[in-house]
Order: sequence, then structure tokens, then C-alpha cells
Amino acid sequence: MKLIRSTTDLAINGAPPAFEEPLHVGRPIVGDRAAFLDQVGRILDNQWLTNNGQFVQEFERRIAEYLGVRHCVAMCNGTIALEIAIRALGLTGEVIVPSWTFIATAHALYWQGITPVFADIDPATHNLDPDSVRRMITPRTTGIIGVHLWGRAAPVERLQAVADEHGLKLLFDAAHAFGSTYRGGRIGSFGACEVLSFHATKAFNTMEGGAVVTNDDELAETARLMRNFGFKAYDYVIHPGTNGKMIEVCAAMGLANLDRFEETVAMNRRNHDTYRRSLAGVSGISLLDYDPTDHNSHHYVVVEVGSGSALRDRILAALHAENVLARKYFWPGCHRMQPYRDLFPHAGMMLGHTEKVAEQVLVLPNGNLPTEAIETISDVVRQMATCAWS
Ligand SMILES: *Cc1c(COP(=O)(O)O)cnc(C)c1O
Repeated sequence: MKLIRSTTDLAINGAPPAFEEPLHVGRPIVGDRAAFLDQVGRILDNQWLTNNGQFVQEFERRIAEYLGVRHCVAMCNGTIALEIAIRALGLTGEVIVPSWTFIATAHALYWQGITPVFADIDPATHNLDPDSVRRMITPRTTGIIGVHLWGRAAPVERLQAVADEHGLKLLFDAAHAFGSTYRGGRIGSFGACEVLSFHATKAFNTMEGGAVVTNDDELAETARLMRNFGFKAYDYVIHPGTNGKMIEVCAAMGLANLDRFEETVAMNRRNHDTYRRSLAGVSGISLLDYDPTDHNSHHYVVVEVGSGSALRDRILAALHAENVLARKYFWPGCHRMQPYRDLFPHAGMMLGHTEKVAEQVLVLPNGNLPTEAIETISDVVRQMATCAWS
């Protein structure tokens, strides 16, 4: 990434863009490249490319140990892991999810003939609001999927209380939350199970990948069967299933990245602090904070533009002109995307906080970035926000 200039003129006013190359949100972190390439060599030598090979087994063992959970069932991606978790838990009918999440949370249900019912969020944390969940329960409801958005834990106990009161299954989409803690406990052991994504854009990646993690032996066994077509042994199928297997090369990438994960987190945290300092005092702009008493990968730099979508969209356009590809995650909310928009045209009436937050959010790049790049990005935000307020 090359920085052409450090500050002042904006590309939307005709100056050349500050960054020569597009700077994406979610640029992949590549950990120990030499270790990875060495492992790829061993995989080719072994001639064992997939089907529960030694790298996948080692990866599962290391992840379970890191998270302090009994079982890690590695999968080809987070979406398939969600689908398998949903099936292994026997969910049917309606399942309550936030609308303020990546679309895969809702699609994993709909794809299996289950209706995702959207509940609202707490605007302070962007996480599911248990009172809103309670209001969405009907006789058809069988479960709740909490999402640990931006890696910050959903209100775990309060959601568990709602689930217990109504006899519902509770699982968590922990795609953002690898390495996060909640009140000192690692994410991974909450609810009936938790689902991770190791997609290239996440803080910790295996290129593509995901996992179901759980302390429930039986659930883990079912997820393992479903991941591998229901094979219990050679020529012996005892369950319906699909192909959700992680390949050896992805597991090797995960092992190489796991060894560097703490460094990645430290880098993200420093960047976050730089953004905070650089954006301090800009009126109408606030950075979503992480709870300092819990771990978080600090992967997501989430800015809220107080005055709403018109200014937010102008800041976004100014950043894009500089080659900074900031994102409006998860605008406009799942309930406004298809097929849910047509299925539930009035869902927004129950989702006031989601609709408001969706107009305000801007996610900025993080990862391997020099301090000057962060200062330049912050300067563009500051100039746009300041001219709007003066
Ligand atoms: C990335 C993500 C997923 C999907 O994971 P994939 O590995 O990309 O299939 C699901 N839920 C959330 C919240 C995500 O961010």
C-alpha cells in the first residue's frame, strides 16, 4: 500500500487519491508465510489433501484448546457451519435473529426452510436486545441465534433466560468473535453451541473456513456426521448429511495464523487507539468502544455518524475517492434485503434501532496499516464532518 500524500486536499475536490492502491476493509492477515508454505509442502508430500487429515485434526485440537471448549468441528466455511448447527439442533418453524448482522445469519435458516424472524438491537452495543426477542416469540418459534457483533459478546445470560423461559434453543453466531471474552470467559462455550467463521476477511482466517464449537458431546458428534455425508465408517451412512469438510491447506493456514494471532490483535488495538486519537473531538463522529475489561480482536473500526445517512454517505464517497474502501456494514439490514424485504415488508416497524444504526455506521480499514495511513483516513473523515457542521 502506497500513501501518496499525508493530508489536506481531498480527492473529491480534484486532488489525486491519497492511496495509490485500493485499501479494503477486511484485507486478509497472512501470518507466518514460511511456516504455511512449509506445511503446504508436507500436505503435498503426504498426498492427503482433505477428509479429516492430520492438519485439520491438529487445527481442531489447537482451536478447542485456545477457546477452552471440548469440541471444535472444523468446516469449509462459517455459513455451512451455521447450517449444520441449525440442523443438528433440530430447529424448525421460526428462529429469532438480529437483522443487524451479515446476511448469512438469516440465509442459513431460510436455505433450510426455516423463517428468520428479525428482532431489534441495543443501539449502544449493536447486539440483540432480549426484550425485543421476547416480543417476537410465537408458537412456531424454536430457537434464537445471538450474534456477537463486532466481536463484542451478545447479552448471553439474558438471552439464555429468554430461551429457558420459552423452551427455545440458543446458539451464537460468533463469526466476529474469535478470541473475544465475555466477563473473562472465552467466547465458544456459550449457548448450545457457537459458530465461527475463518473467512479471509475475519481477524483470524483459514482463507475459507468455519467451525461449530460446543461442550455438548452428542451435538459435536452429530455435527461431525453431518459434515461428512453422515458417514459413521467406511460404507456406513447413519445420518443425512452434506459436505462441510475443511481442507488440509486451510487448516495449515489456520495453524500459521494462530501462532501470530496475539500479534494481530496487538496491531489492531494500536490502530484502534490511533483512530480514536485522530478522530477525538470531531463533532458528530464517534467510534464504537470495546469493553476494556474483555478481550476483543479490535478488528472492526466502527464509526457512527450522528447526523445520519446524508453525511455518512458523503464521508463514504470522499473515502472511496481516496481509494479507501470503507463499508456501510450491515446496511440496510437483513430485513431490507431479499427475500426478506418482500416477505416482511413491515418488519422495519419493529426494528427502530436497527434502522437508525444502519443510517449511521461506517466501518474503516484495519490490519497492517502505517500510522500515517490511519491519520490520513481520519483527516478525510474530519474534513468532511467539519465542513458539514460549520
Ligand atoms: C462472515 C460471517 C458469516 C459467514 O461466514 P463465512 O465463513 O463467510 O461463510 C456469518 N455471520 C457473520 C456475522 C459473519 O460476519
